[in-house]
Amino acid sequence: MATKRKPFVKLQCQECKKTNYYSHKSRQLNQKTEKKLELKKYCNTCRKHTVHKETKK
Ligand SMILES: [Zn+2]
Repeated sequence: MATKRKPFVKLQCQECKKTNYYSHKSRQLNQKTEKKLELKKYCNTCRKHTVHKETKK
C-alpha cells in the first residue's frame, strides 16, 4: 500500500519574496495545466494584496 504525499506548495509574495501561504495542489488543477499557481493574496509584509506564486523549497 503506497501512500503518496499530496503535492505541497508554498506561495511566495512576488514583491518581498516572503513565503506567506502554504497550499496543497489539487489534482484537477494538475491535470488541466502544468502552470504554476498564481494567486492574489494579502501580504503582511507589504501590507497589501500582492501576487503570490507557487514555489518549491
Ligand atoms: Zn510581500
